[in-house]
Amino acid sequence: MSSILTIDPKMLPYEGRQIKGHFPPSFFQLDENDPVQCIGDMEFDIVALKDGKNVNVTGTLRAPFSLQCGRCAQRFEFEADLSDYDLEIEIEKDQMIDLTEALREDILLALPSYPRCEDGNISPRDCPEEGRFDAISEPLVPEEEKPADQGKAVWNVLDQLKKQ
Ligand SMILES: [Zn+2]
Repeated sequence: MSSILTIDPKMLPYEGRQIKGHFPPSFFQLDENDPVQCIGDMEFDIVALKDGKNVNVTGTLRAPFSLQCGRCAQRFEFEADLSDYDLEIEIEKDQMIDLTEALREDILLALPSYPRCEDGNISPRDCPEEGRFDAISEPLVPEEEKPADQGKAVWNVLDQLKKQ
């Protein structure tokens, strides 16, 4: 399907070749039951450059996904944006190089491994279940005896840790 992503190292011009285009979501070959679904075109704008025994591929890859939050099980949208994409492939003899598999895998690897609503970068929203796990991990205290902002304090500490 993607001959445009097949490179013949012998035919690469000295200054490299720009390859630009987009593929429909089927590019990722995700099962319809997969919690990860691509919801729009995968766009790419890359330059393939021969560098000794390697072909260097640099550029931008972008694709929008629908992911499932591991906390509340609701779906949210996440755009994988690899704007500093950099790939090096060794040239084996005079074989053609098909970038399809590498691009597909690298984009999927750029998705959060433990998706949470907060990761959403298309239309950000708060996770409705956020904070629920605090209550479980804390010793059981009747609700009314708990300081009102205890949960909040925990999140402040977590925020501090993240910033470090
Ligand atoms: Zn959530």
